[in-house]
Amino acid sequence: MISSILPTYNRAPLSFEKGDGAWLIEADGTRYLDLGAGIAVTALGHAHPALVKALTDQAGALWHCSNLYQIPAQQKLADQLVEATFADTVFFTNSGTEAAELAIKMARKYWAAKGDPDRVEIIAFDGAFHGRSTAAIAATRSEKMTGGFGPLLPGFTHLPFGDHDALRAAISDRTAAVIVEPVQGEGGIKVLPDACLKGLRDLCDETGALMILDEVQCGMGRTGRLFAHEWAGVTPDIMMVAKGLGGGFPIGALLATEDAAQGMVAGTHGSTYGGNPLGCAVASAVMDIVADEEFLAEVRRKSGLFRQKLEGLVAAHPDVFSAVRGSGLMLGLECVAPNTDIVAAGYAAHVITVPAAENVIRLLPALTITDAELAEAVDRLDAAATAIVSADAA
Ligand SMILES: *Cc1c(COP(=O)(O)O)cnc(C)c1O
Repeated sequence: MISSILPTYNRAPLSFEKGDGAWLIEADGTRYLDLGAGIAVTALGHAHPALVKALTDQAGALWHCSNLYQIPAQQKLADQLVEATFADTVFFTNSGTEAAELAIKMARKYWAAKGDPDRVEIIAFDGAFHGRSTAAIAATRSEKMTGGFGPLLPGFTHLPFGDHDALRAAISDRTAAVIVEPVQGEGGIKVLPDACLKGLRDLCDETGALMILDEVQCGMGRTGRLFAHEWAGVTPDIMMVAKGLGGGFPIGALLATEDAAQGMVAGTHGSTYGGNPLGCAVASAVMDIVADEEFLAEVRRKSGLFRQKLEGLVAAHPDVFSAVRGSGLMLGLECVAPNTDIVAAGYAAHVITVPAAENVIRLLPALTITDAELAEAVDRLDAAATAIVSADAA
């Protein structure tokens, strides 16, 4: 008999009732060190006092207000994002997928508005993940996500991740946009080298194609810059943000330049809940903390510390791990043993990690995690790796 929850997830036998900073707590009080952060969502940890206050203050004032009216909390957040980034304008969504949906619509509308309505092709990359809507799975292409859901939205071309020559050969005056994650998350914590992002920007400039960056997972301070593309010194035309933006409250955003947004006039797009006062109030509080250079410097410092300890872990367990990769506090451990076994061994050692493609486990702790907690995390991963090796020997 089908479960009362549609069984699209293989759920671990863990059940959390409370969160506290970098910790998740079961009903019986058992504490797990959370290196998943709800897949890079709880960027400031669980139950951060400033976020709890922002949410409860707003909840006492106004929960919902249609986008038919001015929404002060939304205006404030939009101004913060515009101030802190390349963007001139923002549309708020409830998720990363909805931001991807709008990114694709905006790129096509841009060319329609410029009198070239057949310029609709979008170049995406192997291993990409942009969400689960029909447009987003067409951009993603993997058989697991698209099988049985056809016909897929046409107009997508897929190239090997980071292959500049393939991109040069494929991009043309038919290309509406190129969409890429500066650091692939689901794809296995794969960092697009700065030179590739610069080269991609150059090819977009040469051809006029819009550059869409999906920073849903790698944005909001995750790599030690507010947005990952800042490392390469280039800016996109359109960018998707979600996950860390609300620190756990569902909100996403689509950021764009004035030029890229030119087709999106009144009536061309909308959302009932997008830009809801509750989500905007929380995300404003997140921005107040994360968009601060001192906070980001701390993320970079902790990244260095964590990486160094993880390199030691890899060296101590060559039968389990082969390398560390990633950027900031978006790190991956390349595994020798099956990654899902290591994630399960982590549960037994009370540390939460998340599997990704290419047999990697993802380490995406709260950006507020302490040095002591990072050391504890490595000790627990060490215990998990030791348990894997002993299980193999037995
Ligand atoms: C999670 C994710 C999405 C989809 O976001 P949802 O909020 O789950 O819809 C899109 N792109 C990337 C890179 C993601 O990591």
